[in-house]
Amino acid sequence: MADYDVVIIGGGISGLAALHYIRTRRPELSVRLFEADGRLGGTVGTDHCNGYSLDWGPNGFLDREPLTLQLVDEIALSAQLERANANVSNRFILRLGKLRAVPMKPQKFLTSDILSLPGKLRVLGEPFAAKAPEGVDESIYDFGKRRIGREAADYLIQPMVSGVYGGVASRMSLRACFPMMYQMESQYGSLFKAMLAKMKEAKRNGKKSGGPSGPAGWLTSFKGGLSRITDELGSRYASDIALNRPVLTVQKNDSGFQVRFTDSSTVDTRDLILAVPSNHAAMVTGELSSELSKTLAAIPYAPIAVVCFGYDASRIRTNLDGFGFLVPSKEGKGILGSIWTSSIFADRAPQGKVQFRTMVGGDGDHESAKLSDGDLIARVTRDLDSIVGLNGEPELVKIYRWEYGIPQYHIGHLDRMQVIERELAAIKGLHLTGNAYYGISLNDCVKQSFKVVGNLTI
Ligand SMILES: Cc1cc2nc3c(=O)[nH]c(=O)nc-3n(C[C@H](O)[C@H](O)[C@H](O)COP(=O)(O)OP(=O)(O)OC[C@H]3O[C@@H](n4cnc5c(N)ncnc54)[C@H](O)[C@@H]3O)c2cc1C
Repeated sequence: MADYDVVIIGGGISGLAALHYIRTRRPELSVRLFEADGRLGGTVGTDHCNGYSLDWGPNGFLDREPLTLQLVDEIALSAQLERANANVSNRFILRLGKLRAVPMKPQKFLTSDILSLPGKLRVLGEPFAAKAPEGVDESIYDFGKRRIGREAADYLIQPMVSGVYGGVASRMSLRACFPMMYQMESQYGSLFKAMLAKMKEAKRNGKKSGGPSGPAGWLTSFKGGLSRITDELGSRYASDIALNRPVLTVQKNDSGFQVRFTDSSTVDTRDLILAVPSNHAAMVTGELSSELSKTLAAIPYAPIAVVCFGYDASRIRTNLDGFGFLVPSKEGKGILGSIWTSSIFADRAPQGKVQFRTMVGGDGDHESAKLSDGDLIARVTRDLDSIVGLNGEPELVKIYRWEYGIPQYHIGHLDRMQVIERELAAIKGLHLTGNAYYGISLNDCVKQSFKVVGNLTI
């Protein structure tokens, strides 16, 4: 007889969402979540310092995933939702050392200075681009270069990939990272044609096709910071959660699984949900399947340092009217980009102050995320000063380092997922959720956890 029907390992958003779905959809089951750390949330966290609210990792989610909004509603947090400032729609890309606004409407593209004239004309030739090579897991960069040209791939596609994944576009699999784009090309033969068709459809259905976060949804968080969601889930289900309980390994036994902790204590469970990063899942599954463990361990991660600066607004020489900017690797700067957090969510800085969240590192620059605090601060100050103009030192600095920040869906990721799925199918009752498999966003994590709970064997 097992101690629990279900054990969840990991108390980030994925594990907490799985716990919520079990408690609300399968209340008859006994469940326990074990978290290694002394706190819940994983990469989701918010600090409150001198009137600033500083998100450790993610700073929001797009409101396009109904499951996330439903979860928020079910835990009575809808009234706390905070949408990105509707008046702020600009986003910038650095080109030749200057910030250029990304044209948010097709008619603004021709007059924008984001690309050279030949670069823009090449983009307009998109419907006539060469077909996708058959049987090839194409990189995002090659896809971009083929469809809209090299300059746009360097100045639009690469920064988008580093903004979302901290990734290098030439290493990332289009099908794994942006399956929608892959499908759009497959179905319509052209991204322009696909977008036109989608706009027509949205118009027919009386829907608007975008918000200030782009066509894919509206950036949304909570009053006071993103950790509201993990804090609420944690307190709601506190009696089902054990903190400071790092799992060392898992073995199969008659009732299902025996989970062994680092202090050698054990619990037995019938189903087991691993809601930990894939490198941790690799460590705990070594005794269940060496093939599974090896394949999980092979999923690469990009390290990221999030450097938050608080400044008096009067000390910034640029009007921070926008979401922030991304830096193409061609520009040779030491940062990936910077989010103007207080322009997006006004309550993230006191009145008259501003907050920058600047990302350093990523898959193309593993060493930089490891720089000392002093070196990181010097680098971010130098680059922000050259781009937006800073007078003096920040009044607040906070650095959050993520050694295993964001999983990278390199070329071959979907083959790897096939191996993982095959191995999982052979171990009844074992489930994986989290951001390492089918999408890295919070929305993806929630969706994945919902699915996993639907697949429990009991
Ligand atoms: C800098 C940064 C910015 C991001 N920005 C965004 C954004 O704006 N929007 C967005 O949607 N997404 C963003 N993401 C991605 C998003 O944060 C993650 O996908 C998501 O938070 C992952 O949640 P998770 O629960 O799967 O994993 P995690 O948050 O990593 O949680 C895993 C948990 O498992 C625990 N654990 C690990 N090993 C063990 C063990 N052996 N035993 C017990 N417990 C264990 C860990 O302590 C941790 O608490 C960002 C990520 C980073 C790093």
